[in-house]
Amino acid sequence: MHFPSFTPILLIQLIHITALHGAKWTYSGQDGQQYWSKHYPYCGGPFQSPIDIESELLRFDPTLGPIEVQNYDLSPDEQLTLGNNGHSVQLSLPGKMYISSLPRRYTAAQLHLHWGSSSKPAGSEHLVNSRQYAAELHVVHFNSDKYPNMSMAVDKSDGLAVLGVLIEVGEFNPAFEQFLKFINGVKYRDQKVQIPGFNIRGLLPPRLDEYYRYDGSLTTPPCYPSVLWTLFRNPVTISRKQFVALATSLYSSHAQDSTPLPLNSNFRKPQAVDSRVVLVSFKEADESWISTGLLVPILVGSSLGIVLIVSLICCLLRQKRSGAPQDKNKGAGYNIGEKDEYGSRV
Ligand SMILES: [Zn+2]
Repeated sequence: MHFPSFTPILLIQLIHITALHGAKWTYSGQDGQQYWSKHYPYCGGPFQSPIDIESELLRFDPTLGPIEVQNYDLSPDEQLTLGNNGHSVQLSLPGKMYISSLPRRYTAAQLHLHWGSSSKPAGSEHLVNSRQYAAELHVVHFNSDKYPNMSMAVDKSDGLAVLGVLIEVGEFNPAFEQFLKFINGVKYRDQKVQIPGFNIRGLLPPRLDEYYRYDGSLTTPPCYPSVLWTLFRNPVTISRKQFVALATSLYSSHAQDSTPLPLNSNFRKPQAVDSRVVLVSFKEADESWISTGLLVPILVGSSLGIVLIVSLICCLLRQKRSGAPQDKNKGAGYNIGEKDEYGSRV
């Protein structure tokens, strides 16, 4: 008989929770990313992230110097909070860590990851020429010259700077192991554990001078277009075992929920680029010219060159022959030709 009286209370609690924490959202299903903009209008707006970084969008910017980070080497005495927020695994970072190479100081707040599933190791948010990597690390910083904390900065156009690292499956990564080894302590949503500090710089690729830069957004609701994105050109690796641990250990549901929901494939699909360009700190060497349509003219040009040189040599030889005694040379020429033919078959 008491049961019906619970329902309005539960409803009020639910409204209260929604008001406090915003509407619930997921990556797929009823509250999936195609519906985010219903409750979070910025998700349907301009300057959204991630994007597919295609060669045509790139513009070399010689003023983009190497990324410099300060106080990333944390002592094991320093305790960091590792948590499961139902959307990702997140590590809180101390306020002494910052990026020093941008016009403003950007102080670190947290890092988190996006990843695929154990059967589909493709879960990076940014794509490079349509290639999706296994996972992606985001180190989130806020503009501390202008704003006192993360929550004041999060919705400002110059509020945040995120360092993005593409992750592929390969060699074991000891730096990632520093927090992946504690992942079973945060299996369920809202669980937290304290872990010892380590060198966060070890999570970034060795080269911090090669990166893509563009203006974008948070890749999760409320999708504020407040992020100065730096995506490093070079990926890092984690082992298959490390990737599987990440992809299979966590749940987006609470420990007490009757149906556990695995937490994987937590990446947003690429968003419209619109009028944006992607600045690059490096000159694209290697195979970039293949995709920019220069391959055909280069091949045609070099073929024509070869034909021209061969014709010239033939012409010169013919001229020479016509002026020299012929019988000896003719015999020798045939013999060499025969030898070559046999030689090439071996
Ligand atoms: Zn992220």
